[in-house]
Amino acid sequence: MKCIRCREKACVQLRAHNSAFCKPCYLLFFRRQVERAIHHEKMFRPDERILVAVSGGKDSLALWDVLVDLGYQTIGLYLGLGIGEYSDGSRRCAEAFAQARDLPLRVVALEETGPGLGVPTIAASTRRTPCAACGTMKRHYFDTAALEAGVDVLATGHNLDDEAARLLGNVLHWQREYLARQRPVLQPKHPKFVRKVKPLYLVSEYESAVYAFLRGIEYVVEECPNSAGATQLGYKDVLNRLETASPGTKLRFVKEYLRTAQPVFAEVDERPLGECERCGMPAYGAVCGFCNLVLEVETKRDRLVAHP
Ligand code: SF4
Ligand SMILES: [Zn+2]
Ligand SMILES: [Zn+2]
Repeated sequence: MKCIRCREKACVQLRAHNSAFCKPCYLLFFRRQVERAIHHEKMFRPDERILVAVSGGKDSLALWDVLVDLGYQTIGLYLGLGIGEYSDGSRRCAEAFAQARDLPLRVVALEETGPGLGVPTIAASTRRTPCAACGTMKRHYFDTAALEAGVDVLATGHNLDDEAARLLGNVLHWQREYLARQRPVLQPKHPKFVRKVKPLYLVSEYESAVYAFLRGIEYVVEECPNSAGATQLGYKDVLNRLETASPGTKLRFVKEYLRTAQPVFAEVDERPLGECERCGMPAYGAVCGFCNLVLEVETKRDRLVAHP
C-alpha cells in the first residue's frame, strides 16, 4: 500500500476517503482537513482568541495541537467532572500536554466551584442519567469560563462519530430543537455567550486517534465509566456497522444533513432567550438548566435535613 501523495510506503489507510498516507503526509492531510473546516465554516479568524475545551482525550488534545500548530491564539479549559479515577487520569493528561508545550490551561473542578457539585452527586440526587447531568454542567461551565476568559470562541473536540451519533439520535426522536442547533458553528444568541465551534466535525474518531498517536500525544485511553450505558454508544455501534459495509456513510450522513436539511430546521429555532434569575447566565425559562439541577439537589438535601 502506497501513500497517495508521495508514493512512499503508507502507514494509514482511510477507506472513507479511499486514501492511504505515510506519516508526514497523514499529519499534513489531518491538519488540512481541520484548516479547511475552519475556513469553510468561517469558525474564527487569526486575531480571535479561542478557548479549547480539553477532556484529556485524543480528540480535544489533537484539536489543541493542530490549532497551536496553525498559529491560533488558544487557552485550554479542563473541567474536572468529579468522576473518580477517570477524572484524575484525564486531568493529568490535559495538564501534562499543556505543561510540555508551555500552553495556558484553566482548570475548573466542579466539586470546588460554585455549589461544589460533581456529576455523580448531581445524577444521584436528581432523576437524570449521569450523561444528561454532565451535559448540562459542561454547557454551564463552558459558557461561564468563556465569559470570564473574555475569549471570542469556544472550540470543542466533537468528531464525525460524535456528530453522526448525535444526528442519528436526534432524527430517531425527531428532536426538532436539537436538529435546529446541530451544526459546526453556533453563533451566540446572547451577549454572554460566545461563538461555539467544532473544527473536527468531519474528522473520524479513528483519524484523530491516529493523529494523536503519530504526534506522540499522551491522552487518557480509558473511557468514562458512564459511557458504557450511554445511548450514544449504541448509535455509534450501529453507524460503525454501516460504515464497515459502506465506507464513507458517516461522512455523507453528516455532510448531507448540513447541506440539505439543517437550514430547514434552523428556521424553527426562534425561542426567546432571557437571563437566569439565579446565576444571570442566558436561559430559555426563568431559571437555566444548570440552576434547575442545583435547585433539585438542594431541595432534596433540605428534605433530608428536615426528615432525616
Ligand atoms: S460519558 Fe457521560 S458522564 Fe462521562 S464524560 Fe461523557 S457525558 Fe459525561
Ligand atoms: Zn507520503
Ligand atoms: Zn442559572
